[in-house]
Amino acid sequence: YSTSAAYDVPINPPVQINYTKLLINGEFVDAASGKTFPTFDPRTGDVIAHISEADAEDVNRAVSAARKAFDEGPWPKMSAHDRSRIMLKFVDLLEKHSEELAALETWDNGKTYAKATTDDLPLTIRIFRYYAGWADKIHGLTVPADGLYHVHTLHEPIGVAGQIIPWNFPLLMFAWKVAPALACGNTVVLKTAEQTPLSALYASKLLHEAGLPQGVLNVLSGYGPVVGAPLASHIDVDKLAFTGSTDTGKAVVKLAAKSNLKPVTLELGGKSPFIVFQDADVDKAIEDAHFALFYNQGQCCTAGSRTFVHESIYDDFVEKSRELALKRVVGDPFKKGVEQGPQIDAEQFEKILKYIKIGIESGARLEAGGERFGSKGYYIQPTVFSDVQDDMLIAKDEIFGPVQSISKFRDINEVIQRANATQYGLAAGVYTKALDTANTMTRALRVGTVWVNCYDVFDASIPFGGYKMSGNGREKGMYGLSNYLQVKSVITPLKNPAW
Ligand code: NAD
Repeated sequence: YSTSAAYDVPINPPVQINYTKLLINGEFVDAASGKTFPTFDPRTGDVIAHISEADAEDVNRAVSAARKAFDEGPWPKMSAHDRSRIMLKFVDLLEKHSEELAALETWDNGKTYAKATTDDLPLTIRIFRYYAGWADKIHGLTVPADGLYHVHTLHEPIGVAGQIIPWNFPLLMFAWKVAPALACGNTVVLKTAEQTPLSALYASKLLHEAGLPQGVLNVLSGYGPVVGAPLASHIDVDKLAFTGSTDTGKAVVKLAAKSNLKPVTLELGGKSPFIVFQDADVDKAIEDAHFALFYNQGQCCTAGSRTFVHESIYDDFVEKSRELALKRVVGDPFKKGVEQGPQIDAEQFEKILKYIKIGIESGARLEAGGERFGSKGYYIQPTVFSDVQDDMLIAKDEIFGPVQSISKFRDINEVIQRANATQYGLAAGVYTKALDTANTMTRALRVGTVWVNCYDVFDASIPFGGYKMSGNGREKGMYGLSNYLQVKSVITPLKNPAW
């Protein structure tokens, strides 16, 4: 591994922490309890800042502000064009403050500053601009019903949206949730992940600077069971959108059902197959498989975490994947040239190392890595296993770290069956030059996204979501609007039957 990137002396992040309190009704306020919790620098484990820690009482305060802002307006009643203009003004501010936001993201999360500036920020901006464009293009239909009636539908905002997001793409997840909700005229109470509260607070400040009325967006920092659970079960929250692990997804669905049956959209975990046929551009497939797994320190719900390679190209594939992993530059994510920063926190760090140990003990062949990197912070060596069998735990569980698992297959029917033999169904990659193979695979795979000869291509316009236990509902694109809209049918008699 490249040790050229020093991790012992962390580079000073080029940003100050200005916002650490809860955002309720347009103001930064202390938690009702007065409590705070630390957010950590994953490069060192040191505390970055103390953040106000919300609990059920703060959920009540935030929901009542959002309720008032929804019931009394102006947001849902404002012209859609004006909503769009506020969102576009926010986009300008996001562009202006991109560097500080990218720095907060790297500091709090550990992702490389390079990727925060080329991926997280531009994609966040794209999402808000895209949904700002939708705001004044949301409309119902005229319906040709039987009988002498004029029938039309109104597409109305659903009300107060509760939103819970994870730590792996803090700002982008904020955008996926908040942008469509606001475009449709809803008000929001968003709970960030306890590991990464900083960038959402900063962005929310900018949204208010752009003219967002008070109470429309409320942001709570804190822990899942303490603030996420009361939000999911709040009687006055009309809709819940959750991104996180499948286990927590199950928990919030129960809470939603027990309280007021609020509809829930879920973006959950994955164990996505990356399938390489013998006729593929193998060198490109090797590079993409590496990227599909190691991107964002392996902390992606779409991580290509089961690499299936045709037996005729397998040995070459494994060897070159090993070389790529050994060349990957690990170090301080603020340093230029670094490709991999630390994992998010001590818990994930330990969990990943445990899975590596399990992989070795269960007989998978360790080709590269296998240990922590350095002696400080949460860095892990890029790790590659070959000869991974489907019944091994590393082939079944979502590891959420820099651990690539490669296995061999013989024919298309076998690989379809194996690729689908999982509780998850989020995404898949297929590498082949044959149109027939590609068409067969895209139809056979039970997943929400199939990338053919590419991977992790995201755009605001492309719907995203899971089959099976990877979730339900689609975010982004036109489909993402339906999560935040009610359809009302309006029927009126036609007075002049002769006409
Ligand atoms: P997590 O489920 O532990 O946490 C996600 C969020 O839920 C956090 O804000 C957390 O505080 C909150 N939470 C935890 N317990 C809760 C409870 N009892 N009630 C309400 N809220 C609660 O997940 P994580 O480990 O932080 O994130 C990683 C997971 O997210 C992975 O499984 C990953 O695949 C998934 N993910 C999915 C997508 C997607 O779009 N499908 C995107 C990103 C991440």
